[in-house]
Amino acid sequence: NDTNDDNLYNQIILNSIEEERVTPTSFVCLAMLGRGSFGEVYLVQKMNSKTLYAMKVLSKDRIMGQNLMKYAMAERNVLSLTNHPFIVKLNFAFQTNHKLFLILDYCPGGDLSKHLQFEKRFTEDRARFYLCEVLLALEDLHRRDIIFRDLKPDNVVLDEEGHAKLTDFGLSKEGVYDSQCAKSFCGSIAYLAPEMLKKQGHGKAVDWYLLGVLFYEMLV
Ligand code: ADP
Ligand code: MG
Repeated sequence: NDTNDDNLYNQIILNSIEEERVTPTSFVCLAMLGRGSFGEVYLVQKMNSKTLYAMKVLSKDRIMGQNLMKYAMAERNVLSLTNHPFIVKLNFAFQTNHKLFLILDYCPGGDLSKHLQFEKRFTEDRARFYLCEVLLALEDLHRRDIIFRDLKPDNVVLDEEGHAKLTDFGLSKEGVYDSQCAKSFCGSIAYLAPEMLKKQGHGKAVDWYLLGVLFYEMLV
């Protein structure tokens, strides 16, 4: 039900005591950080506080055209539930007639795929460091019966201190209690677990498979 989803999406997440109405005009756009299939991510500055954020903008036309509203809702819901040092924080969520907006903590270190592109591979120590941080983030999600499903270097960003954070919850799913209760075929082509390819249902183990793939990519 669209109206229902709209209202849910609209609830503004408060990171301060005063109830502040946040809209696209509360931010100045400074640069583009990334582009995906359903929208873009920009570096923005909030006008009144001067704080920098990453703003993910999703086009409703593109989402609804492919009946993917449930994924947009899952991304917003999961991000508003999580509070973990190695998962990006959602500060605000709002929408206009044509777009959905997520205002995330800005991670200035860029994503791991950009680093791997330049550096080809990481030392074992560095790979182990990111591996452990991502592992802790996945454990936190699994404890709440959430699976991430889209672990890959592009979706791990580095904060100002060089710590890894998961970003992009567009394929995450809530309420995954067993090893086959999730059914949707989804993921990124080069990163699919065997049970995803078999399409017989999957569970939390897809994230551990992809953690192995991430580790391999960082080292090799
Ligand atoms: P998509 O669903 O289109 O893949 P993502 O959420 O993965 O969108 O964002 C696309 C890219 O934007 C990421 O690969 C990363 O380079 C950049 N990005 C995303 N979130 C942040 C953030 N919080 N801070 C800095 N860069 C980010
Ligand atoms: Mg992504």
